[in-house]
Amino acid sequence: TDVKELLLSRIRDVADYPEPGVMFKDITPLLADPAAFTALTDALAEIAANTGATKIVGLEARGFILGAPVAVRAGIGFIPVRKAGKLPGATLSQAYDLEYGSAEIEVHAEDLSGQDRVLVVDDVLATGGTVEASLQLIRRAGAEVAGVAILMELGFLRGRERLEPALAGAPLETL
Ligand code: 5GP
Repeated sequence: TDVKELLLSRIRDVADYPEPGVMFKDITPLLADPAAFTALTDALAEIAANTGATKIVGLEARGFILGAPVAVRAGIGFIPVRKAGKLPGATLSQAYDLEYGSAEIEVHAEDLSGQDRVLVVDDVLATGGTVEASLQLIRRAGAEVAGVAILMELGFLRGRERLEPALAGAPLETL
């Protein structure tokens, strides 16, 4: 569609970043273009409405940039999932494996309740490890997963397959 062409045209490939052999997808040209950023926000807000989401969870750091305007547009709350050690209140933590080593993400425990249906928003789905850990956090907080909405999926890394059990039937929409 026209929207997909517009979004794709505003994503820049950066070779050998952050390390040799990696082709990094840079979304900063998209953020700098108001027509593209608005079209992306509208498309993600439509997913939020269609899934009946009551909260947006944004994944640090680009999930904050994309998720916050979606929450405002959809008229629902925004909750940051941060790297360990950044949130001041009582948190739930979830560790997950990276290619080399491991990482840990956290959410404020009081931000999610059993009444919530949560849509996870991020920019890029690579191996799926980050989204998988966020889904575990949301369920551990007692909330329901409404779905996952992501700008761009790197299909060759098979994140979608990895996420299938964790999604448990919830939709994974990538634009
Ligand atoms: P995963 O956990 O799926 O392997 O990695 C996804 C996370 O790493 C996302 O939070 C995403 O922002 C970041 N990421 C991985 N590769 C890229 C990339 O090529 N471009 C951008 N913008 N982010 C990436």
